[in-house]
Amino acid sequence: MPRRIDTYLADLLPEDKFAFYEVVRDFSDQEIAPNLLRWEREHQLVPDDAIARMADLGLFGLPIEERYGGQGGDQLDLVLMGLALAYHSQSVAITPGAALSLGAKPLQLCGTEAQKKAHLPDLAHGKRMFVFGLSEPGRGSDAANPQVTARRSGSGWVIQGEKCWSTNAHWASHVVVHALTNPAAPNGKRSTCFIVPMDARGVHYQEMAGKKVWEQSSTGSITFDNVEVPGDAVLGEVDQGFKVMVTTLNGGRLFIASLALGSLAFALDKTRTYAEERIQFDEQPIGRFQRVQDVILDMDIALERNLTWLLHLCRRYDEGQVSREQCAKVKVDSSRVASDLVALAMEVCGGVACLDEFGLIRHHNDLFVTRVGEGSNFALKDLIVRPLRQR
Ligand SMILES: Cc1cc2nc3c(=O)[nH]c(=O)nc-3n(C[C@H](O)[C@H](O)[C@H](O)COP(=O)(O)OP(=O)(O)OC[C@H]3O[C@@H](n4cnc5c(N)ncnc54)[C@H](O)[C@@H]3O)c2cc1C
Repeated sequence: MPRRIDTYLADLLPEDKFAFYEVVRDFSDQEIAPNLLRWEREHQLVPDDAIARMADLGLFGLPIEERYGGQGGDQLDLVLMGLALAYHSQSVAITPGAALSLGAKPLQLCGTEAQKKAHLPDLAHGKRMFVFGLSEPGRGSDAANPQVTARRSGSGWVIQGEKCWSTNAHWASHVVVHALTNPAAPNGKRSTCFIVPMDARGVHYQEMAGKKVWEQSSTGSITFDNVEVPGDAVLGEVDQGFKVMVTTLNGGRLFIASLALGSLAFALDKTRTYAEERIQFDEQPIGRFQRVQDVILDMDIALERNLTWLLHLCRRYDEGQVSREQCAKVKVDSSRVASDLVALAMEVCGGVACLDEFGLIRHHNDLFVTRVGEGSNFALKDLIVRPLRQR
């Protein structure tokens, strides 16, 4: 059966963009899908050779400008990569995805020329990885008020505290740390971002144990024990760190929506195939039951609708014309709809759906992260509702 998502993308994309999607899709089919079950059962992170293959394909440099050694692509490329890789594994997709949309992006948006020249070429080739240090044990949704602090010391700064949930920490060369620098300032102007090498004295990383979602993705806790950094480690302006982080999250949320839709696309194909093959009562397929058809149809409608919406927003993002609310909305809706429908898809498939080799349970579990990550959906609704409440 042809993939349903391919039918939509072929129609929605220009030829060159669809051809790029096909390259990543084929890589994902041939080099990721056959290994996933083994990686899961052996509790492995994405292996180094798979990361090296993605770097060879240029995936770590997709939206990085050519003058810094990247592919010179755009947000649409990033989202197409997300869709193609997340069809099999969100864990694999988020590895280059977070490296770019959360790691390299703040540097691209707010870095000085010297910072860009120092880091972007290696980031583009997968030789370095930046992680996004926003969340902390005591600060999740209330991210504007970090408990990690940075105090001035001579011409530099000293950083103290702990970040957690840092995606890609295992492979990271640097962490972009969001730290409190001016507690007396108004909300949103109290913090500064710093580029901190993971091998700086006083930086300690530990993989977070017991995570049962995104199982092949690295998620670390990083502590800073009086870490000294020079003045030029500041990313963006002093006391404007929250702006750096929230601006970065616009593209990040478009990427998270692509993960949700990649999972939904997989579930749709799996379920419609199974519904035709599973025979119950009178030697007939379960796909003849209208309630089963309803679930499949709802998945198909949601996939076409949200793909069209997401690709439209990527183009607007690339034109610099997208708002925070628009990015949050497509993330909230895609993650919510995909989560609801994948749970129903599992019900359509019955008991077999709970087996890891069937694939649906992986997507069901991973979809939780798309609802909570990069702003929990509940918290983001505070933002989305604002234009509706203006008088
Ligand atoms: C696998 C994974 C990877 C991650 N990667 C990164 C990363 O690379 N870098 C990084 O910085 N962070 C990362 N995160 C952290 C993620 O961004 C946070 O989990 C998220 O921001 C929510 O914070 P929290 O978990 O502390 O929840 P809390 O802020 O404690 O919120 C808990 C719940 O309270 C409710 N709630 C909170 N605020 C509101 C509100 N204003 N209105 C209504 N309800 C509300 C919601 O239901 C919310 O889910 C990752 C998380 C996961 C699970």
